[in-house]
Amino acid sequence: MSDRAETRGTAEGAPDVGELTPPDRTLMGPGPSDVHPRVLRAMSTPLVGHLDPSFVEMMDEVQELLRYAFRTDNRWTIPVSGTGSAAMEAAIGNLVEPGDTMLVPTNGYFGGRMASMAGRAGGEVVEVDAPWGEPLDPADVAAAFDEHQPDVFGFVHAETSTGVLQPEVPELTAIAHDHDAYVIADTVTSLGGVELRVDDWNVDVAYSGPQKCLSCPPGASPLTLNDRAMDKVLDRETDARSWYLDLSLLEGYWGDDRSYHHTAPITNVYALREALRLVAEEGIEKRWARHREVAGDLKAGLQELGLEMNAPDDYWLPSLNAVRVPDGVDDAAVIDHLIAEYDLEIAGGLGDLAGDIWRIGCMGHSARPKNVEYLLAALEDALA
Ligand code: PLP
Repeated sequence: MSDRAETRGTAEGAPDVGELTPPDRTLMGPGPSDVHPRVLRAMSTPLVGHLDPSFVEMMDEVQELLRYAFRTDNRWTIPVSGTGSAAMEAAIGNLVEPGDTMLVPTNGYFGGRMASMAGRAGGEVVEVDAPWGEPLDPADVAAAFDEHQPDVFGFVHAETSTGVLQPEVPELTAIAHDHDAYVIADTVTSLGGVELRVDDWNVDVAYSGPQKCLSCPPGASPLTLNDRAMDKVLDRETDARSWYLDLSLLEGYWGDDRSYHHTAPITNVYALREALRLVAEEGIEKRWARHREVAGDLKAGLQELGLEMNAPDDYWLPSLNAVRVPDGVDDAAVIDHLIAEYDLEIAGGLGDLAGDIWRIGCMGHSARPKNVEYLLAALEDALA
């Protein structure tokens, strides 16, 4: 029993867990990233109802701010209640109808999750191959279209499992549109951190998470669809399998009616509003440039320590730096040392790259020179 709990006491027979005192970590892993104090302050402001006129106004503001961050004019731009996977499932589960074919990538962990969600939505899944750690080649995507004629094509713009940024997005969307298919982009680790232009690049649907380059706690996750994609959703012959994520129902709450669908995570919407306000103050293009610059210093510092990046410079992802673990070094021991001695979080590899890489995030409020200097000094110590 902690001292504090002893003084406050708990009712007899009730669990005594003491007051919440989480450690004060520096978050440089694959997300969540450090949260800006202004976002934390927004989260401690009074709760209003999810249909309160003041909240309805806030919903409009969040939608407007999200459009700015996504670089889109899409009317259907909302925060989905839930984590990035909820926005991902809202995208895939609504776009993919039973009998549709979805083309997914094999070059990372999150392409695998797309496949799983498309299958559960009743879709037939076909794949375009690239090794983990490499982007998709447009020629392979074109060949996969010729072979399978998919209805929906999903790709991961910023693959958090490999540290690879998918280049040539407009080429990929052009191939899909030449085949009358819809494009879903996973922008969880790119929104607000690396260049992303939903409208200019002709992306039909993009989803994201708030806890990466927006530096906001998880809970309300960005999603945008153009009219063409939303028309497909509204014209479905069968209902989407998830009631909760059915966009034709959510439209009642986030569209013009503002009628009850579910109780929105109000505090998370406050947080997202403040996080997006910070993006608007900084300016989206300046924010992309800051990520490149600060992460560029991180990359140079890692290379000075003798470490090798997993992704070549051409498709290096500033927000997620995947670094090869040197021969003879225990990756988990280094991660544990950074947490124990420095209160500093980084992560190991996932899936095919487990044990081979460390994943060092440089996202949002964590993408600051001070964090980079701290991380490099701590890592040098851990490797000594
Ligand atoms: N897609 C990518 C690329 C991710 O990095 C993540 C989370 O790390 C997700 C999807 C799923 O998001 P969440 O963990 O918030 O559900």
